Formats: sequence, C-alpha cells, structure tokens
Amino acid sequence: MGRKFAVAINPKWCKKCGICAAFCPRQVFTHKAGHVPEITAEEKCIGCNQCEQRCPDFAVTVRGKNDESDS
Ligand code: SF4
Ligand code: SF4
Repeated sequence: MGRKFAVAINPKWCKKCGICAAFCPRQVFTHKAGHVPEITAEEKCIGCNQCEQRCPDFAVTVRGKNDESDS
C-alpha cells in the first residue's frame, strides 16, 4: 500500500469557490455551487498538494498518514 493522506477543509475559511475540486487530479472533492466542497474520496488522494496550494484562503490541509498509526 502507498501512503495515505488526510484531507480537511476548514469551513470557516472556505469561500466555496471550488478551486480545490477543480485542480484535484483524483476527484477527492465533490463541489456543488455555493457549498463547501465535501471530501468524498479521500482514499484516492495522492498527496500532490494542489488543493492546499491553490486554495486562495488556506482552508485546505493535507497530512500524510502512516499505514497503521494515526492520531
Ligand atoms: S479552494 Fe479553498 S476556498 Fe475554494 S472551495 Fe476549496 S477549500 Fe474552499
Ligand atoms: S493533495 Fe492532490 S490528490 Fe489530494 S486532495 Fe489535494 S489536489 Fe487532490
């Protein structure tokens, strides 16, 4: 198994623009206009950090998870 990642959006900072969903190469997010994107396929995340880097409001965080241990 490869590395796994935990993806989170801080809804207080998110302005619901959908950029994270648009740039994610793995369709981790599901974005409906006017809503904070939902993280619907976290297991597909490859940790590319596009979402974190493209989010204009620093609302997305991507953390590496160890295979077994997790916080
Ligand atoms: S890019 Fe950032 S502000 Fe825009 S929808 Fe995604 S989390 Fe929200
Ligand atoms: S790190 Fe890359 S693959 Fe993972 S959710 Fe963000 S854009 Fe998608």
